Amino acid sequence: MKLLEERIRKDGIVKPGNVLKVDSFLNHQMDVELFNEMGKEFKRLFGDRPINKILTIEASGIGIACVVAQHFQVPVVFAKKAKSINLDGEMYTTKIESFTHKKVYDVIVAKKFLNKEDHVLIIDDFLANGCAVAGLIDLIQSAGATVEGVGIAIEKGFQQGGDIIRGKGIRVESLAIVESMDDETGTLSFREQ
Ligand code: 5GP
Repeated sequence: MKLLEERIRKDGIVKPGNVLKVDSFLNHQMDVELFNEMGKEFKRLFGDRPINKILTIEASGIGIACVVAQHFQVPVVFAKKAKSINLDGEMYTTKIESFTHKKVYDVIVAKKFLNKEDHVLIIDDFLANGCAVAGLIDLIQSAGATVEGVGIAIEKGFQQGGDIIRGKGIRVESLAIVESMDDETGTLSFREQ
C-alpha cells in the first residue's frame, strides 16, 4: 500500500536491533485517517471471507483493529497480557514472547468471546518473528474457531514470521513489507507487491 510505504519513509525511524519506530502515526500517536485507508484495503483483500470477528493483541494492535472492524462491521476482541495468577478455566491462554521487550507473557481471551462458530481475522501492527500472530492463532484454534486470515500493517520481511505463518497455510496480507533497513544510514527498502 503506497500510502503506508510513503508514510514509513517520511516518519519511520530505523533503530538498532531491527526495530522500526513508527510511534508518530501508528502505535503511540495514531493517524486515524491512515488507519481508515488501511481498513478499506483489508476489506478489499479479505472481503471474500466470511469474517465475523477481529482478534488482536494489546496494546498496539487495538487502534488499527477497531478502525478495520468498522469496514467489516464486526466486533473486535483483544487478547490481554495477564498475570499467571489471574488465569482460570474461563479463559483460553497461550504464551507469547514479545519482540520489543524480550519477555514471555501469558495471553488470554475469555472463552465467552471466542467460539467454534467464529471466523476470525487477526490484525496487528507488526509481523516480525511471528510469535504474536502464532499465539493468536493458538487461541483461535483452542476455541475451535476458524482463522480466516492475518492482516498486518508492517511486515519485516527479513525476519522469519511471514514464512512461518504462511507455511501453516494461513493467508497473510501485509500492507507494507520492509525488505531491509539500516540503522546507520536510516534507509529502508520495500518488497514490491
Ligand atoms: P513478533 O511476535 O512477530 O516477533 O513481533 C510482533 C509484535 O512485536 C508486534 O505486536 C509489535 O508490537 C512488536 N514489534 C515487532 N517488531 C517491531 C518493530 O520493528 N517496531 C515496533 N514498533 N514494534 C515491533
